[in-house]
Amino acid sequence: MARHRAKGPLVDVITRVDLDRKKAVAVVVAAGALAGAGFAQAASTVSPVDRLITPVAATKNLAAAMTAPPQQQGPQTIHSVDTGSEARKLLQAEQIQAQYHVAGALKSAEGAYVKRQEAAKAEQARIAAEEEAKRPKCVRPAQGSFTSGFGARWGTSHNGVDIANAIGTPIVSVMDGTVIEAGPASGFGLWVRVQHADGTITVYGHMNTIDVPQGAKVKAGQQIATIGNRGQSTGPHVHFEVWAGGGQKINPVGWLAERGVSL
Ligand SMILES: [Zn+2]
Repeated sequence: MARHRAKGPLVDVITRVDLDRKKAVAVVVAAGALAGAGFAQAASTVSPVDRLITPVAATKNLAAAMTAPPQQQGPQTIHSVDTGSEARKLLQAEQIQAQYHVAGALKSAEGAYVKRQEAAKAEQARIAAEEEAKRPKCVRPAQGSFTSGFGARWGTSHNGVDIANAIGTPIVSVMDGTVIEAGPASGFGLWVRVQHADGTITVYGHMNTIDVPQGAKVKAGQQIATIGNRGQSTGPHVHFEVWAGGGQKINPVGWLAERGVSL
């Protein structure tokens, strides 16, 4: 635009412009120099102490960060595996499992044992009941020879029957009952009296030994004494009497026959 004006002023203008340009360049250069100097100054304001502190502080922060529980907990539990500890835990778990199984097995075995015991008891009870059912309700008082019957004999009354056998031959209770007397008795030498459930009393005399105490509970066929020759006896035998509930002495032959026993 200035170039369309007159020569004289145009040159001045150009010169001024040039001058202005030089100034501008100078300003720019100065500014750059200042900027460079400022930068240099800013950098130079960091003291050697700060230069030392900064890495130390950073190191401290890093160390603190590394040891901080919230940040380290995750990685530790995942990566810091104590193999010994893990093995112990595993072993413990296996032991607990094993104990559980052993306890279960023992309980099962115990249950089976109890069941077997119960079954054995039931079987024993069944056998006992069977034997009880088969057991005779009445037996003869002794093995041997029937030598004398009930009734009048030699001018007196013979109140029982005699079965002769060797001294020591077992004498048994003819039925279940309770020994109400066992000891010496006039004429019998020794006697044993057994009372039965229906009140009947059976009497055994002249025995050599008495094998049950007074008050004993006896079974049919159970030995209570042995044949002897004591008292008014003409030879080794058992004198056997049956006293009915009212105390009346009855013929043992008939009484035994009623119960399936023959002499
Ligand atoms: Zn007799």
